[in-house]
Amino acid sequence: MLLLNPGPVTLTERVRQSLLQTDLCHREPEFFDLQDEAKKRFVAAYALDPAVWNAVLMTGSGTAAVESMIAGLVPEGGRLLVVENGVYGDRIAQIAKQYGIDHEVVKYEWMQALDIDAIIHHETTTGRLNAIEQLSRACKERGVGLLLDAVSSFGAEAIDFDGGGIAATANKCLHGVPGTAFVIARRDALAKAASRTYYLGIARLAKLQDERNTPFTPSVHAYYALVEALREFEEEGGWRARHQRYARLAEQVRSGLANLGIESALSPAESSVVLRAYRLPKGVTYETLYDALKAKGFVIYAGQGGLSKELFRISTMGALDANDMDRLISSFVELLR
Ligand SMILES: *Cc1c(COP(=O)(O)O)cnc(C)c1O
Repeated sequence: MLLLNPGPVTLTERVRQSLLQTDLCHREPEFFDLQDEAKKRFVAAYALDPAVWNAVLMTGSGTAAVESMIAGLVPEGGRLLVVENGVYGDRIAQIAKQYGIDHEVVKYEWMQALDIDAIIHHETTTGRLNAIEQLSRACKERGVGLLLDAVSSFGAEAIDFDGGGIAATANKCLHGVPGTAFVIARRDALAKAASRTYYLGIARLAKLQDERNTPFTPSVHAYYALVEALREFEEEGGWRARHQRYARLAEQVRSGLANLGIESALSPAESSVVLRAYRLPKGVTYETLYDALKAKGFVIYAGQGGLSKELFRISTMGALDANDMDRLISSFVELLR
């Protein structure tokens, strides 16, 4: 089965096999070697200075990293402006509410671009890559921090780190397995992070990890896969190479579907390379399309919320190649015949 949903992704054989390594206690030096290597590789993935930046690992999905970032990096008594044009922006507002963080939401229609720029880097709801340069500049001029949900863009899109914090996960563009997520932030911001949450408290996680320690039992096996995926990521040329590979596959799908009269919801210029949203063909429900493609070995993804009757989504993350996309397009041809 090939996964065309926005994470978890189809694994390479190399990453899958890495899960079969020896059982490991998380208090052993071998585990801390894995933890150190992952942290180092996250920071190196975007050529950040390790003296200034630190990566904090946690066991959980992407949302754990987003929650840890919001709960820790919004200062005590600080205020948060949530810029929302999709499901994941809404989730950040819910997290802020849960922690009693004073916040305000600027809402945009889900298909709409932001007229100031945004906080969700890649809004996976629609595949829109929100341009963040303008907002980043405005924040800098005013001395305001910028926290970025880069869960579905880390490893495949350019990222502006200047604002102070990004949250991401192992099992999207990095091609690991679900179970580990991370936040990259400035070391000084981590040292004085707010303490609103126990398990996801980012200051403690950062401190203990720097001492080759961990407060709780991490998803040890997922760390094997994470480190193997990060090695593979570097050997394949890092985020730029991955960006190009996804771009080629996404364009192959876009033009193949366009030939069949299936339109993209957003233009390529507005979209990420990670995921694209398409309009359902006339007279075909999502369920029919999903069932027919699953029978051919492809798992596609529905539109979220109000978009579920109009859109379907195809992600080109993971161990996928041009032949797979050819087979996908052929499956559409058969289905529409
Ligand atoms: C996938 C995703 C998340 C988190 O999803 P999890 O299911 O918790 O891994 C958060 N934000 C964005 C933009 C995403 O694409």
